[in-house]
Amino acid sequence: MKFYKILGISLFTFFSLQTFAQFKKLHNKAIVIDAHNDILTTCFEHGYSFDQDLRGKTHSDLARFKEGGIDVQLFSIWCDGQKINPFAYANRQIDTLYATANRNPDKMQIVYNSKDLLKTVRKKKLAAMIGVEGGHMIENDLTKLDSLYKRGARYITLTWNNSTPWATSAMAETKDSLLHQPKGLNDFGRNIIKRMNQLGMLVDLSHVGENTFADAINITTKPVLVSHSCVYNLCPAFRNLKDDQIKAIGKNGGVIHLNFYSGFLDSTYKRKDAAFNKIHKAERDSLLKANPEPYFADEFLYSKYKDEVQDMKAPFHLLFDHLDYIVKLIGVNHVGLGSDFDGINSTPQQLNGVTDFPLITKELLARGYSKKDIHKILGGNFLRLLKANEK
Ligand SMILES: [Zn+2]
Repeated sequence: MKFYKILGISLFTFFSLQTFAQFKKLHNKAIVIDAHNDILTTCFEHGYSFDQDLRGKTHSDLARFKEGGIDVQLFSIWCDGQKINPFAYANRQIDTLYATANRNPDKMQIVYNSKDLLKTVRKKKLAAMIGVEGGHMIENDLTKLDSLYKRGARYITLTWNNSTPWATSAMAETKDSLLHQPKGLNDFGRNIIKRMNQLGMLVDLSHVGENTFADAINITTKPVLVSHSCVYNLCPAFRNLKDDQIKAIGKNGGVIHLNFYSGFLDSTYKRKDAAFNKIHKAERDSLLKANPEPYFADEFLYSKYKDEVQDMKAPFHLLFDHLDYIVKLIGVNHVGLGSDFDGINSTPQQLNGVTDFPLITKELLARGYSKKDIHKILGGNFLRLLKANEK
């Protein structure tokens, strides 16, 4: 009896070690690409540098990208719509990325195309790419678009939450809708898509309104990127994708990269968050007086009341429910990961930072995805999209 018991335990240990080794091996072998991370903005706001050890302060830093097996990171360049010189601000953020890369030539390299990307990954260095989150940073000037491209920007999210004079955002199209007419892209907006297609710069449709989305996907000659969004049917957040949008991406050959934000994954999050805000209303109102952008007030309160916030996190499985949903609708070639780490104040349970990326591979295996499909989801689909835009 005792022998079988011992044998049982050792067999159990043997099989769990096997599974552990299997997902670790697969994760390390795959090219893991995250299409959206806001650590640069976080560094800018707090005076950090991401080659420091930022454990306990942020979701990401250079050493932890390695630990999480991330091979390619798209670094988001971001400022809100209130900045007076958004182009200059974007360039200063790009400067900090260059400075960080120059300080760490053995650990990371900025890459400009798929060929360099693969070379850098083979050297076991982090391949850093640049994505500009918000069309307002080109200041209505095509030469500034070209200039950002020359500095390495390989995608532009046409809008952030703020609209530009040439494209309406999801926020604008859903809130204060009557104030924003006409909706979608104007002639200048269409010229921007044309120029991006010519340059081989990915058109990113996260954050844009449905009208802008439809206009852009109708005129682009290249497959589009959705760098960090989820499924509206599972969580009706204002900028998640509706089924007809998901199908349009499938038809276009684009790729939807899933955002890890609890509020975009979990339909019950909005209610929990409202209850939290009600409890802390007085404190929140005073913070909003100092900075009207709610993200900053939330960031402060969320780090102050950690235990309350812990209970609001989306369940881990939801991220994969969104993934399965897209796969069922348009197939496995059109989905990837765009964590939004360091740009979100609530992540799903278990996914507390970039070091937890291997858990995604583990869950994909557990859900029965083939190794080939897991390679696609982790980075292969983004790579295909990049190559298609380079042609
Ligand atoms: Zn965003």
